[in-house]
Amino acid sequence: MNEKSVKSMDNGFVYLVGAGPGRADLITVRGAEVLKRADCIIYDKLANPALLRFARANAEIIHVPKRTGGVSVTQEEINKLLLEKASAGRTVVRLKGGDPCIFGRCAEELAVLAEAGIDFEIVPGLTAGIAGPAYAGIILTDREYSSQVVFVTGREAQGKRESNIDWHLLARFNGTIVFYMGMGNLDYITERLMENGMDADTPTAVIADATFPTQKVAKAPLGDISQKCQQAEIEPPAIIIIGAAADSNTQLNWFMKKPLFGKNIVVTRDVAGNADFAAKIISRCGNPLKFATIKIKPLTETNEFLRTLAKITEYDWIIFTSGNGVTIFFKALQNLRKDARVFGPAKIAAIGNGTAAKLSEFGISADFVPSVFTSKELGRQLIGYTNLQGKKILLLRSQLASNELVELLDEAGAEVQNVAVYTAIEQKSQSAWLIEEISKGRIDWLTFASPSSVNGFFEQIRSDLVNSGNVKIASIGPVTSERLKTLGITVDVTAADHTLDGLLDAIEQTYKV
Ligand code: SAH
Repeated sequence: MNEKSVKSMDNGFVYLVGAGPGRADLITVRGAEVLKRADCIIYDKLANPALLRFARANAEIIHVPKRTGGVSVTQEEINKLLLEKASAGRTVVRLKGGDPCIFGRCAEELAVLAEAGIDFEIVPGLTAGIAGPAYAGIILTDREYSSQVVFVTGREAQGKRESNIDWHLLARFNGTIVFYMGMGNLDYITERLMENGMDADTPTAVIADATFPTQKVAKAPLGDISQKCQQAEIEPPAIIIIGAAADSNTQLNWFMKKPLFGKNIVVTRDVAGNADFAAKIISRCGNPLKFATIKIKPLTETNEFLRTLAKITEYDWIIFTSGNGVTIFFKALQNLRKDARVFGPAKIAAIGNGTAAKLSEFGISADFVPSVFTSKELGRQLIGYTNLQGKKILLLRSQLASNELVELLDEAGAEVQNVAVYTAIEQKSQSAWLIEEISKGRIDWLTFASPSSVNGFFEQIRSDLVNSGNVKIASIGPVTSERLKTLGITVDVTAADHTLDGLLDAIEQTYKV
């Protein structure tokens, strides 16, 4: 049954959702599912805004940061907002960092809803006190040294005369202590524990920005941790782990050992392409920075395209040379209320695995993919694979694609028609931040996935800035590298496998040698 239909007619519904500790793919499946359904999303400072990619295009998005420098929203205002939106009959997602029921003031928000007779569901999340240690290779329990774990707030102590925290018990606690919100109070916490008898040598670890590419870990005995954090410039949000578990084997710190961990990698495609590429970088633990250089403009409303589509079954081979081409082609089909059946008996070739994967999203299994993903190899290998003499071939590509493939196929006796399904136009982006980051040596890689991105990028950023700094350049393939070289840019790596994953493999390789 449609879940919406079971909610009461006049009142809305509130999902109190745990966003997870930070990294955007650490939300639960249920959390992502209800985000997709929300009319209104009210999210906290600690909930990663990248999760908003799940939101419907017309969802109302409200940010309610508490205790940030500028704007600040009080708990009362949040409660009021929840009531107002839900009473108006809307499906509301209240998105909170970590787990909503761990130091999340969840009981207050739910009490307000319960009182008003508004239905709700709690969608648990991964709390920072569990995910943070996991991402630092710190194992909270171990049958040898820690049979119990306790979660404590480090802020409660601040300014309160009568603390609810049992320092006496904590100082003797034979297990792992996890402090949340303790950074502003680190000296106070360590002093209370030592004063109550905890050994100054007790292993302690602080994990800041857990699960993000900016994650930092500081480890020291309890008595020295505060100074160590100052030296390491550790800033909140951070989790403090106290006990034998904090003295973890550094070999277990799998996350920070990943080759791309903490690397600032600029992606320079169009907006949608950048989002795709950024997700790949995040899944490899790097830090993507988006700088759009081009806009992809479909050309599927031209007479040429429509005429070609009408006689598409006449072709023997149809060739796609980019994921963009595939997406735009199928979007056009959809708009015309058609689908993959238009191809009839025609065979389909893709330039590489990325394009083939895109085709498979639309139910097409490519008949031919060359072993090297360039236009030239596609042409050469297709000619070796089948006799093209007299065959009709349709290329559905970018308007900017080179003529090399057409010439090769022509020479093999094929009758080639080249139809542009899209073009890339240069796009201006805010560039001041990127210029500053490059100048300060804070960018590790600039990545280029097409010659048009190269053009769009260097229209906005001076090439001498790039050549003079620490920043390295990675290119997806020979054609893109050639374009970079023409502009006088030194290319550090060119991917052997000309896909986005191949590009990231090539960057990772530079850290392995
Ligand atoms: N409900 C949240 C906790 C909210 S209290 C949860 O379950 O995780 C806020 C505290 O959570 C911060 O002060 C910090 O101690 C911790 N925290 C949240 N996100 C964190 C992160 N990415 N890295 C380290 N600590 C984090």
